[in-house]
Amino acid sequence: MKKLFVLICISTFLLSCKTPEVIINSNGSSARTNSYPSKEQVTPSASTKIDANNQASRLSIEGSLNYLASDALEGRQTGTPGIEKAAIYIENVFKENNVKPYFETYRDSFNIKDIVGYNIVGCLEGTDPNIKNEFVILGAHYDHIGTSKEVNGDSIANGANDDASGTVAVLEWAKYFAKTKSNKRSVLFTLYAAEEMGLKGSEHLAARLKSENIDLHTMINFEMIGVPRAETEILAYMTGYEKSNLAKTLNEYAGSEIIGFFPKAKEFRLFMRSDNYPFYEQFKVPAHAISTFDFTNFEYYHHVDDETEKIDFNHMTNFINKMIPALEGMINTPSKEIKMNNE
Ligand SMILES: [Zn+2]
Repeated sequence: MKKLFVLICISTFLLSCKTPEVIINSNGSSARTNSYPSKEQVTPSASTKIDANNQASRLSIEGSLNYLASDALEGRQTGTPGIEKAAIYIENVFKENNVKPYFETYRDSFNIKDIVGYNIVGCLEGTDPNIKNEFVILGAHYDHIGTSKEVNGDSIANGANDDASGTVAVLEWAKYFAKTKSNKRSVLFTLYAAEEMGLKGSEHLAARLKSENIDLHTMINFEMIGVPRAETEILAYMTGYEKSNLAKTLNEYAGSEIIGFFPKAKEFRLFMRSDNYPFYEQFKVPAHAISTFDFTNFEYYHHVDDETEKIDFNHMTNFINKMIPALEGMINTPSKEIKMNNE
C-alpha cells in the first residue's frame, strides 16, 4: 500500500513536472507543504542569481566553480564525503532559484556494488500546454576521480575543467530559465555521478526515464567547457555532429556558428564516451556532448593541476551566454525539429 501510494505521487510529479505539493517523508508518510526541507548550511561564495540583464555573470560562474573544484571536495569521487558536498551545493542552487525536484527529491540514487551514487535532477515545467509534456535534458557530470598522481605534494584531482565547468554551465542555465520562465518545453537539469566509473550515473537515469516513458525531445551533455579553443577554431564542437541536425539548429538560434564539427571527436568516438550516450541508447533521439576541449588546449586532463587557476572565466562566461539563445530557441520551437539524420 505504501509503495502504491508512492507510485501515485511520483506519477503525479511526472505528468506535471510541478512542485510536489505532497512531500514524502523518509518514513513513507506524507505532509502537505509548500516549502522544501530546510536548507543545508553550504553557502555559495558568490551571487547565485542570474544578473539583471538575464546574463550569466562571471562572478556567479567563478563562485560556483571555485567551490566545486576546491580541495575541500577532495576530487568529488562518487561515494565520498567530498562529492556529497557538491551534491548539496547543487541542490541548494536549485532550491534558491526555485528549480523543482523532478523525482520526489532532487536525488536519483543508484548503487555500484556497495557505493551509493546520486544524480541530481532539477526540473522546470514547460510553459506551453501543447509541448510541456516534451522534455529537453541538459546535463554534465559533477563527479571526478578523487586523487591522481601527486605533483609537488598535491594529490587532489580537483576536476575544475572536467567537469565542474559543465556542471556550472548547467546550473547557470537552470538559473536563467527559472528566472525568465521562457521554456515552453519542460527542461531537466541533470548532474551525474559516476561518469568517471563508466557513465554509471547517466546510464541509471536514462534507463529510469525510459522506463517512465518520458517524451524526450533532445539531450545535451556539456563536457570540459572551461578553456577556449584557438581563435581560428569554432567556439565549441559537438560529438556525433553528423548524426543529427542539432548543431545546425543550435547555430541558427545562436545567430552564428558557435558549434562545429571536430574530426578528432569522430576519430576517438567521443559520442560514445560521455553521458549523452546512454540517452541516445535508450531513446534513439539526438543526444550529444558539446565541449571546448580539443586535446591541444588543456594539458591537465585527469591531472592534479586541473584546478580553478587553469580556467578561463571570460571564455566560460562567453560560452554560457552564447548558448542561451541557442538553447532557448531549441526548447521553444513548436515542432520537434531536432531529428536524427537517418530519419
Ligand atoms: Zn568529463
